[in-house]
Amino acid sequence: MAKIKEIKAKTIIVKSNLPEGEYVINPYVGCQHACIYCYARFMKRFSGHEEPWGKFVDVKINAPDLIPEITNKFKDKWITIGSVCDPYQPIERKYKLTRKILEKLILLQPHLDLMTKSDLVVRDIDLFKQFKDRVVAVSLSILNERLRKQLEPFSSSVKARIGALKKLRNAGIRTTLFISPIFPYITDWKSIIEKTKYFVDEFWFENLNLYPSIKENIYGFLKKNKPELVEKYKKIYSTKSDYWNIEEERIKEFCKQNKINYKIYFHHKNPSSGNFA
Ligand code: SF4
Repeated sequence: MAKIKEIKAKTIIVKSNLPEGEYVINPYVGCQHACIYCYARFMKRFSGHEEPWGKFVDVKINAPDLIPEITNKFKDKWITIGSVCDPYQPIERKYKLTRKILEKLILLQPHLDLMTKSDLVVRDIDLFKQFKDRVVAVSLSILNERLRKQLEPFSSSVKARIGALKKLRNAGIRTTLFISPIFPYITDWKSIIEKTKYFVDEFWFENLNLYPSIKENIYGFLKKNKPELVEKYKKIYSTKSDYWNIEEERIKEFCKQNKINYKIYFHHKNPSSGNFA
């Protein structure tokens, strides 16, 4: 169980340092999904929390009130909801902050960008439809449910996320599936594409980055589940391996052959992409 605390934020729409974002909104500090590879755990330092990542959430209860009702400042600018938390983590069912924020943003008509590992996202289909430009992405790293539970313990199941993509698409929302992070020799991105391509408009790909803060988690996961891969990972991450360059070429080739729209975020500053629609 995560420790939940209600807080009041001073600002809510902040300038982004994401490669493709202009502004970000984080309704929550912390994320109950508790993914073992989450890079956002640095937020522990900033927020002064001592609990493990995934075991605390600060709820910015005044977040919707901080969004202006009249301004052109954000019109046609990208606003990402949830850069260091999942906007549809379980506590959102109770507080509905993401929903209330969306309701306010409709008036400002920014380009909307959000990503989640939760099927709760379908609750807000009625609101997504009211944005002229929007990217609603679901992320998935793996199809194996047993391993998913270890990597992302409190996220929605693989089946539920795939179901959410179908519902979004059936409702006329353009869908993006972010295959991230790709675990070398574990993430079967071809099977993920095959399983979802009929209701996904674009696939994005991101490699697993072994940040120092998650290294121990990842090697712990490998030792428990795939001990034979430990040495292979060490090679990929500790030498001048060209593993990711080769993987990138394989993805491009596959997408071109199968007319799959893609963006590859292996090199964050210059994502490579292909559009076949
Ligand atoms: S859902 Fe995203 S923000 Fe939440 S723990 Fe997982 S990776 Fe981190």
